[in-house]
Amino acid sequence: MPIFEFRCRNCNQEFEKLVFGADPEVECPHCGQGKVEKLMSVCTAKVGGKLTSTSSGASSSCTGCAATSCSTCG
Ligand SMILES: [Zn+2]
Repeated sequence: MPIFEFRCRNCNQEFEKLVFGADPEVECPHCGQGKVEKLMSVCTAKVGGKLTSTSSGASSSCTGCAATSCSTCG
């Protein structure tokens, strides 16, 4: 989904909008003006925030601790 982040040049508010096409006409939802500039897309940057502590457990045989070569847990 092509969600882009925009900033209004009129009221300086930032907002996200789902757009189609390379040069869409986007109006500011705060003031209704069309004087907006497109910022970097943030849809992919928000995904990588989750920790992968559980997914990396494939190399760890020990379920009692996080070490890959655990000698205390057996
Ligand atoms: Zn505005």
